[in-house]
Amino acid sequence: MNIGHEWVIDFIRRVLAEGRAHHAYLLTGPTHVGKLTTALAMAQVLLCEKQTGCGQCRHCQLVGRRIHPDLRILELPADRRTIPIRDVHEFTQGIALKPLEAERKVYIIDSADLLSEDGANALLKTIEEPPPAVTLLLTATDPARLLPTVVSRCHRLSLRRVPAEVIQEHLTANLAVDASQARTIAELSHGLPGWAILAQQQPEIQDEQRQRGRDLAELLQSSRLDRLKYADTLADRWSGHNEQVLDVLEIWIDAWRGLALSKAGLTGQWQNLDLTSGQSLDLADVRTALAATLDTLEALKANAHPRLALESLLLLWPRLPIQPLPALPSR
Ligand SMILES: [Zn+2]
Repeated sequence: MNIGHEWVIDFIRRVLAEGRAHHAYLLTGPTHVGKLTTALAMAQVLLCEKQTGCGQCRHCQLVGRRIHPDLRILELPADRRTIPIRDVHEFTQGIALKPLEAERKVYIIDSADLLSEDGANALLKTIEEPPPAVTLLLTATDPARLLPTVVSRCHRLSLRRVPAEVIQEHLTANLAVDASQARTIAELSHGLPGWAILAQQQPEIQDEQRQRGRDLAELLQSSRLDRLKYADTLADRWSGHNEQVLDVLEIWIDAWRGLALSKAGLTGQWQNLDLTSGQSLDLADVRTALAATLDTLEALKANAHPRLALESLLLLWPRLPIQPLPALPSR
């Protein structure tokens, strides 16, 4: 179910009705914003017998169950960090053949930014010149990792974070979550519907999110030594659980961004992290910390050394003056 990105569906219906659909679309946006869900909703419109994504016809139903014969999806295998070329070959096999049941075929490449290098090269020709009856839908969290020729061939659709009220509404109306719980999850989700749904199923994820916000507030008052210890603990989780470490950085980026907004006099939309202590920092320091955290996230994705990257990040963050609290470690 599409949450908060209905404009994409309206858009694809319109271009289809006007006969000016592109061959390839690239959906970008943060993890858990709903890129694959939106791509599937687009596929429904593209394959629907009324070209509306009515949800009722046989085509819509088959797409909904991901078993439409003219729909193919290439995804990152659960045990891999990149999509191997073998999967790419399997995916493109028979792509030039006519559609079996619908008027066209839809090929979705989820996380196209995680294609292996040879996998991406193997797809290049398909993306540059898709067979006439094929519409390609690519998703990417980090479009900078895509080959420029790929990006230039796609019509780009950027998915933004969804307002908390929209997520809250979805949780109460469709998942029977009670109102106050839905509000809490929606606020913690930072505009990411996919995260909200996961957190509703696995409440421990909510605790983790809260804890990371508290950790940041504490780290700002910590000594160099404590920051290094924290960085090392986090770095130890990298092998095997690198996505958890990336999640932590995402949470921190949100917190810094929220703080920068509120310091600039704009009301941050996501005020749930307890960063009241950060209000005494300079805006310039907050901006530097935000930029450094963003850079570290990118560097880690590009295989930087996790311990070094995290240590230098935490040392670069500003330090809050020691608060008049007796239990605080001093150096
Ligand atoms: Zn339909």
